[in-house]
Amino acid sequence: MADECWVPIPAGSPYPLANLPIGVGHSGDGRWRAWVALGDVALDLAASHDAGAFSGIELPDGCFVAASLNRYLAAGPSTWSAVRARLTALFTDTANETTLASFVSARSVLTMGVPTAPVDYVDFYSSIHHATNLGRLFRPDGDPLMPNWKRIPIGYHGRTGTIVADGAEIRRPHGLRLIEGEPEYGPCRSLDIELEVGTIVGVGSERGYPIRIEDAGRHLYGMCLVNDWSARDIQAYEYQPLGPFLGKSFATSVSPWLVSIEALAPFRIASPAQDPPVANYLSTDEAWGFDLHLEVWLDSARMRAAGQPAVCLSRAPFDDMYWTPAQQLAHMTANGASTNPGDLFASGTVSGPSRGSEGSLIELARNGERPIKLPDGSTRAFLLDGDRVTMTGWAGSEPGNRIGLGSVSGTITDQGG
Ligand code: MN
Repeated sequence: MADECWVPIPAGSPYPLANLPIGVGHSGDGRWRAWVALGDVALDLAASHDAGAFSGIELPDGCFVAASLNRYLAAGPSTWSAVRARLTALFTDTANETTLASFVSARSVLTMGVPTAPVDYVDFYSSIHHATNLGRLFRPDGDPLMPNWKRIPIGYHGRTGTIVADGAEIRRPHGLRLIEGEPEYGPCRSLDIELEVGTIVGVGSERGYPIRIEDAGRHLYGMCLVNDWSARDIQAYEYQPLGPFLGKSFATSVSPWLVSIEALAPFRIASPAQDPPVANYLSTDEAWGFDLHLEVWLDSARMRAAGQPAVCLSRAPFDDMYWTPAQQLAHMTANGASTNPGDLFASGTVSGPSRGSEGSLIELARNGERPIKLPDGSTRAFLLDGDRVTMTGWAGSEPGNRIGLGSVSGTITDQGG
């Protein structure tokens, strides 16, 4: 079908016709609207809608003329499916080219925002490799996994107000951290990344009414990439007894293009067997694992100045995440907590079992014991000012049959005095 598409799609594009991810952006005029990405271009959904492209599909008023996709996501799975089917039909019938071509922009000229306005943001901790690695670092004398880790998806509520878009500058946070055993206020000395996959709630749920795991598919819209920036020294001092706070809340970067669960359907796989068996409310026969592949790239200010390309620090598989998005959704509403359209919950750092597949610097550089060598001759235990981190990812193991999650990057700057 792709060869019938009237938009040329470069080989290896993360956005073939099978993907059709949506985001919000503007073309320099500040008029935020929804777009769908295809190859190197994007189609203005608001203008297309005005021109009747979605006639016969019931859409919430103004759902494509907004700085977030929340209203569109609230419309639910049958609407998402109908829009996706219509877009596929529009792009594969050359009769539409003349009408729609004026609503197409090069993606490179668009300023993309955070795709949804989450009311709530939850960050989980669902990679057994990451939890084990960090447990060994922080609690070398104990069992690396806490006794509850295999019973419930561990998570905490993050800060929605500091969720930032692709390309945002990340000012180095200041805080209280231990210097030679004494708490001292100053700039973070161990600024880190966390490679994560975010899941976006489409249809929310009322307070008092848990979402049953069987119904997860009716609530979840899609996925994106998340960099959960982490100030390890601030985190280490504050995290007991109540968990992460200022070590995490200064910034969370998300990728601009939401890939729908429907587009990801061919890449759904069984998640790893869970032993001990989980509680009934977390148990399902549905396959909620995803065959995703993630990468972390870094370039320093000096590398960019010298024209050196970014270097790949990590390649992490998502397929053996211990807890799935459906389990995370069922768990975070099990007590009756509500959810809203556009809410974000992140997987937790994605680390694989092997060296070079860890999703954070604290794991990759063994908490500073094995600094990473960069092409500019410098080394990194943690991020320095001017470092730019780019995360990328895709679904599918066969190169000819992939869809991309796109990428998200952020650059560290000095907070100043
Ligand atoms: Mn995290």
